[in-house]
Amino acid sequence: MSWQNKIERGLQQRRETAAYRSRQMNDGANGRWLHTDTRRYLNFSSNDYLGLSQDAEVIAAWQQGAQRYGVGSGGSGHVTGYSRPHAQFEQQLADWLGYPRALLFISGYAANQAVLAALTAADDRILADKLSHASLLEAATHSPAQLRRFTHNQADSLQKLLNKPCSGQTLVVTEGIFSMDGDSAPLVDLQQHIAPAGGWLLVDDAHGIGVRGAAGRGSCWLQGIKPELLVVTFGKAFGLSGAAVLCQEPVAEYLVQYARHLIYSTAMPPAQAYALQTALLRIQQGDDLRQQLQQRIAQFRRGAADLPLQLGASETAIQPLWVGDNQQTVALAEQLRAAGLWVTAIRPPTVPPGGARLRITLSAAHQSDDIDQLLEVLHGVCH
Ligand SMILES: *Cc1c(COP(=O)(O)O)cnc(C)c1O
Repeated sequence: MSWQNKIERGLQQRRETAAYRSRQMNDGANGRWLHTDTRRYLNFSSNDYLGLSQDAEVIAAWQQGAQRYGVGSGGSGHVTGYSRPHAQFEQQLADWLGYPRALLFISGYAANQAVLAALTAADDRILADKLSHASLLEAATHSPAQLRRFTHNQADSLQKLLNKPCSGQTLVVTEGIFSMDGDSAPLVDLQQHIAPAGGWLLVDDAHGIGVRGAAGRGSCWLQGIKPELLVVTFGKAFGLSGAAVLCQEPVAEYLVQYARHLIYSTAMPPAQAYALQTALLRIQQGDDLRQQLQQRIAQFRRGAADLPLQLGASETAIQPLWVGDNQQTVALAEQLRAAGLWVTAIRPPTVPPGGARLRITLSAAHQSDDIDQLLEVLHGVCH
């Protein structure tokens, strides 16, 4: 088979299963609106949970950071890319979340790849929740360790895997809030099974940091646990991008030696690290924003309870409406779009086969009327 045939076959496969993906250009999207050249849509697809991507103070900080430090870091952190704003932000994160160290990464995807690859060897094992984000499962698959998956949020299922012999170390991987379902992991329960087995826990709290727990410290703080490795990302509630790994001192030093995504990749722009410090302040003082988000979530759930589509058991900004069939999900998303609402149709392989859904995300930037409008249109297209 030629290269051309191989590519064409791959594309054809996606077309046949109504799983073909295409990107749609916009002229700006934030927690409330998505603009195209012809129209403005209410945006129910963004992870900008607190609306900080458009926050005037954060934008001003980025501009100020660029004035002071330029727009690029000029290299990997191991060469000349580690600037004062990077170091300051790492320290602030560590203090805020109660860890000795925080290490910045360019993205959550990179952080997960780097950590799993750097920490594990061939005799180790990674036990991951089945619904873990692609960046975690993929990293685990590519790592030298053996990957085993436990039933979603089931400590019993994890225990069965823990009972099996392993000559190396065990790393258990899960999320604070699951990105496609919006539900939370039973972190205390999981940790009670992991600790006696001598394993470590990694929690990816991409969707919890900034929105849950006291002062937005996230899912682990809310549940009162401190995993050995906590991954937080800045592309969601923080409104920017990037990620950090929180850990003990020796682990941080180990990652500085062995995490290839740190060593062989340009550090994030110092202006971004500078802006992230302001975003962190907004989050620490953001009880009003978090309260507003909670009100929108409650309003949506009240209104969506009698829809013919099944609503997920989510208390968070991620509100899935299960449809099942790919084509039907896409058709619903198109109807919503025609009504001025931007909602994403999520299909396999992002979710399990038969699990196609509308993934609605809510933001503190939404107004009460926006939610009413969404509910009205949903009731209209579903009947
Ligand atoms: C979004 C997300 C990531 C990826 O983070 P990026 O910074 O966007 O690369 C990783 N893990 C989870 C659970 C996520 O939801």
